[in-house]
Amino acid sequence: MTEIRTVLTGLDLLPPATGDEFDLATERAVRAFQQSRGLSVDGRVGAETWRALDAARWRLGARTLYHAVPEPLTGEDVRSLQERLLEMGYDVGHADAVYGVRTARAVAQFQREVGLKPDGSCGPHTMGALRRLGRKVVGGRPQWLRESDAIRQSGPTLVGRTVVIDPGHGGTDPGVVVPDGPLRWSEADLVHDLASRLEGRLAAAGVRVQLTRGPTPATCLPDTDRAQLANSLGADVFISLHTDGHANPEADGVATYHYGTDNGVTSATGERLAGLVQREIVARTGLRDCRTHAKAWDLLRLTRMPAVRVEVGYLTSPQDRNRLVDPRFRDKVVEAIVAAVQRMFFPIERDVPTGSIDVSELRAVVAAGAVMD
Ligand SMILES: [Zn+2]
Repeated sequence: MTEIRTVLTGLDLLPPATGDEFDLATERAVRAFQQSRGLSVDGRVGAETWRALDAARWRLGARTLYHAVPEPLTGEDVRSLQERLLEMGYDVGHADAVYGVRTARAVAQFQREVGLKPDGSCGPHTMGALRRLGRKVVGGRPQWLRESDAIRQSGPTLVGRTVVIDPGHGGTDPGVVVPDGPLRWSEADLVHDLASRLEGRLAAAGVRVQLTRGPTPATCLPDTDRAQLANSLGADVFISLHTDGHANPEADGVATYHYGTDNGVTSATGERLAGLVQREIVARTGLRDCRTHAKAWDLLRLTRMPAVRVEVGYLTSPQDRNRLVDPRFRDKVVEAIVAAVQRMFFPIERDVPTGSIDVSELRAVVAAGAVMD
């Protein structure tokens, strides 16, 4: 009885105990608890309610958590752990307070990334690592923190970097297609042209560049393969190029996407790159600013480097299309992306104003070691 009251008090459902009897206040608290846990509400502590109460009193860190078979551990501590892992971008499904295979796998992945033995159980060492990171990491996996550390430490030069450029669609999938008199504009063709121009500009600045496809591939490479290619090349940056389309011809503008989920988890470096690409393109081209957005698409989720997907204008907008079919406009877009990639490697405190990098002089400036400040 005292135990039940203690748990309910700990859950803020009952004021600290005065007597020892199962009184009206306790019954009301049990009902409130049953309701909050989706149990049938009868105000009595049967076996099921007791199990739920028992699970509710565990605080994270009070016991070692592991994947027990066949009866998995459950409790509020498991739920707290799952929420923490979700916040950092690990896949535990939803926080259901049950320490199942998926949770164990996420814990093992976390352990690997922070350099602990990946046994999938959460004991004092893992708890310690979670606590230490807890203050630093908001919405970003340790892997991503290391990613931005690596970028900061490797200096501002573009020479020797690897950039993978991904012209969207291709092969059997032309993307957005718009007939224009006797002509026919396709997203696949336009973004491949953009990719080739970008390849030329980046290569001139000393960057190793790889495209995910040629101008006329036989089939359309799935996004998972494109991400895999970038990973296998150890790319420093991944840029996917698309144009948008909408039934309403009035829809226009540029938008840039980076990895992130609905619960606020985001790739910090991906988000920074997306912001730079978006701002440079808007400033240099005057396309409408449709902002940056977090998406959990395979392409962005599976790539292990800062990755963005840019939708450069709406091919279905007569205004955007007129600009996109002009090679000089496409050069402006490309210059904007080169400037964004360059700024990605500047330490944040030495960043420069949007639109200020003269891309044509990039190589000379970088070679001379003067970092445009
Ligand atoms: Zn597309």
